[in-house]
Amino acid sequence: MKIIIPRIIISKLFEHSLLEDPNECCGYLLGKKNKVEEIFNCKNIHKNPISRYRIDGKDQIAAEKHADDRNLEVISIYHSHTLSQAYPSKTDIDSAVESGWTSPNYVLISLIEKTRPIIRAFIINENKSVDEVIIEHDGEAYISPTMNS
Ligand SMILES: [Zn+2]
Repeated sequence: MKIIIPRIIISKLFEHSLLEDPNECCGYLLGKKNKVEEIFNCKNIHKNPISRYRIDGKDQIAAEKHADDRNLEVISIYHSHTLSQAYPSKTDIDSAVESGWTSPNYVLISLIEKTRPIIRAFIINENKSVDEVIIEHDGEAYISPTMNS
């Protein structure tokens, strides 16, 4: 399994993670088949956002509508880990299986090293096993404006 994520969207995933740090950020990646075209940031409404996330139900509905309007699908659910590895936690695995959201893959961003975020993607299966999904970059390289000046 692989997923294609344009570099500009990888940058936006890092940006969202850093903006919310020390809280976890969350949202969806929308696209067609295994190619991501858009990022949809959501609000983390978990009462303990430093180590957990819960996507606001209003954002979920808005993301699904946004995807439908553009003929896209929800390909991935993403969230950040500010203090742990880019790997689904036991809670992540349990909640994926309990919510029945096992068809989109899960993109994890780790901020253990703030200047070198790590991004990985996984499939969480119904039997709670986890398979890694290879991320391929695509498109123009993104250069942050501050690095140019
Ligand atoms: Zn997590």
